[in-house]
Amino acid sequence: MEQGIFKIGPIRPPSEANSLLLRVTENCPWNQCKFCMLYKKNDFHTRPVADVKKDIDCMAEYRDRILELEHNGEYDMEAIQQAYQSMPNDEAKMCYQMVFTWLTEGNKQAIFLQDANTLVLRPDWLIEIVAYVRQRFPEIQRITSYGRANTLARISPEDFKRLRAAGLDRIHSGYESGSDKVLQMISKGATQEDEIIGGKKVKDAGIELSIYFMPGVGGKALSDENAAETAKVINEVNPDFVRLRTFILRTGSLMEELRNSGEYQEQRDIDKLREIRKMLTLIDDEKADGKITSDHIINLLQEVTGYMDKDLPWMLDYIDSFLTLPEEEQKKYQLARRMGFPLDWSYMNRLQPFTRPRIEEMAKNIVDKKEWEALLHRYTDRYI
Ligand code: SF4
Repeated sequence: MEQGIFKIGPIRPPSEANSLLLRVTENCPWNQCKFCMLYKKNDFHTRPVADVKKDIDCMAEYRDRILELEHNGEYDMEAIQQAYQSMPNDEAKMCYQMVFTWLTEGNKQAIFLQDANTLVLRPDWLIEIVAYVRQRFPEIQRITSYGRANTLARISPEDFKRLRAAGLDRIHSGYESGSDKVLQMISKGATQEDEIIGGKKVKDAGIELSIYFMPGVGGKALSDENAAETAKVINEVNPDFVRLRTFILRTGSLMEELRNSGEYQEQRDIDKLREIRKMLTLIDDEKADGKITSDHIINLLQEVTGYMDKDLPWMLDYIDSFLTLPEEEQKKYQLARRMGFPLDWSYMNRLQPFTRPRIEEMAKNIVDKKEWEALLHRYTDRYI
């Protein structure tokens, strides 16, 4: 490891966008999910604990050097610029800049452990790393990581408690679906049982659980099953967060093979929203009180967010108010949203004046359903 450099992985959950990123493992040990294109060209490997600790030291040193240049809330930008320019190479510059951005614009109290499944590390190693983060960054309030359901199910309750005691606060887990049929079809490498057992152990240890659900991933044939079985898992586990990630069949993904063989038919954009609605109707507000969040541009209605014990009626009403709009109004909003419009349909008058007529014309004139879905897909395909 060169001096002044620490490893930076490619991805973190959107809710960790402002966290400092610490690369503990590289790539994904499973790497077989058919919808995922993230690490397909890279082999998984763990990093020696000593190397990760050196990275933590490097980050802490940059933090200290940058904070020495801060007085009464103001940074000496000239000195920061000089320090940046004096870095030995571009990689070191990038690392320095990352710590600076985290300190000045990010969440100074949060660190996310990369990459795809850090929980696969031997618990003793991960505990040593988490404890060292706490030692070198005593100001940190939240340490989080990804963990696959299959991995979580295999970790003992005692090890989860030790991880919690060391300072691990939250685990993000891509459940995607609660249905065994869907999980098998997409090669998730986990079962509903793994999700329930693993999720309960995480929660019992006092670690927050944030799961991801992919409305639409079961395709037309398994839409009801996807909604019902996912709701079942939510009711059993009561995760702290259920994060919606509407499924999009990405060009170049292995899901294309399923579609081309006729085994899989992607749902229409609007039907994926109906699937979210169906899932919400099956959540038991006496068993689940965590938060549904829609923190990704890929979801058609980003405002579908709230606590499962008190906001379900509101969320259903909100979805219904969209689904009962005239079809052309729905189409206008769908297209605007898929083009990146960040608000809901009631703010369509805020669209750029030159964009609005174009959207209205396409919503009116494209009547062929396949052509319409293909148009929406051209936009969503570019989202991560
Ligand atoms: S476990 Fe996550 S990173 Fe790994 S292949 Fe599946 S979706 Fe991709």
